[in-house]
Amino acid sequence: MMEDYPKALQDLAQSLQALPGIGQRTAERLAMALLDWDETHLHELSDRLRTLKSRVTQCTVCGNLAEGAECRICRNPARDHKIICVVESARQIPVIEKCRRFAGLYHVLGGRVSPLDGVEFHDLNVETLFERIGEHGVTELIIATSPDVEGEATATYLGDETRRRFDIQINRISLGIPVGSDLTFADSATMAIAIDSRRPLV
Ligand SMILES: [Zn+2]
Repeated sequence: MMEDYPKALQDLAQSLQALPGIGQRTAERLAMALLDWDETHLHELSDRLRTLKSRVTQCTVCGNLAEGAECRICRNPARDHKIICVVESARQIPVIEKCRRFAGLYHVLGGRVSPLDGVEFHDLNVETLFERIGEHGVTELIIATSPDVEGEATATYLGDETRRRFDIQINRISLGIPVGSDLTFADSATMAIAIDSRRPLV
């Protein structure tokens, strides 16, 4: 039992237990493992924790996670700057990157339309998206919101609002993503099919 451990270990285990997938027993085991680390490694870990929030920023262009003003993808001149793939959260970008089917840029909405939670379309990060489309000659928008009720509603709003403003291709990722699933957990093969078989949003 954890109360048999010194308070410092109990406190550490309690912090670790706040992480996803870490139960009490695992937290205790991790805390004990850290006790065996030498001082150098412990300092390195504590430095990384301490500076995490200040080092990881949000890309000022697309909203992806970044170090500095712009993320690696926006800074990369080899990417196709005419295609923007719209996602709900920055966590979904690595999933799409892993499938290696998309070489354009991204835009993070920072949520989805959800009347129950009081989130409306204009609460999302959409004004900057429209600015990007208008200023940079974007020709295609791929809407990669999740295929559940709120994700579909968000896609419909976004499609309509974009169409009112611009004459560009608006596509929705397609087959392969099971209805009702969260894109963050899609595997690369599934995501590759979804990107390849994208179709015009109606
Ligand atoms: Zn970016």
